[in-house]
Amino acid sequence: MKVLAFYPERCVGCHICEEVCSNTWFKVTDREKSSIRIHDDGEGLLSATYCVQQGDCIAVCPVGALTRNKQGIVMLRKKQCVGCMSCVGFCPHLAMFHHPDQSEPFKCVACGKCVEACPADALAIVEVDAPSPPGPQA
Ligand code: SF4
Ligand code: SF4
Repeated sequence: MKVLAFYPERCVGCHICEEVCSNTWFKVTDREKSSIRIHDDGEGLLSATYCVQQGDCIAVCPVGALTRNKQGIVMLRKKQCVGCMSCVGFCPHLAMFHHPDQSEPFKCVACGKCVEACPADALAIVEVDAPSPPGPQA
């Protein structure tokens, strides 16, 4: 399955990926609405937070709003979501995000828009083995 990958040694901390993500999915340039977050520790160390499609959150959702699609991507069905934020609190990667503008959380679906936009080739969509055991198929 395909997931987003981040190469910190190449990242220049421009945050273009965050802007492109929010533009793609929310039609606004707002880094607080991005499904990838770039962190700078102030000493030159850059890191990224985003969903790696591990899928442990699927079992946490009380209404079955989280599923894994045939491509292996963990999807959030907005119509089913009741906004309990259990998945947000649970995610060990802190990669399920929320914003006061909407009741449902949001996450990276490995669309690759940030990869195309990154000027430093610090992002890629890579093929990895599906997690074992895999989450239920959509
Ligand atoms: S667009 Fe690329 S270089 Fe810029 S912050 Fe994001 S990952 Fe780093
Ligand atoms: S916020 Fe939505 S997707 Fe997340 S656990 Fe609650 S109902 Fe499920």
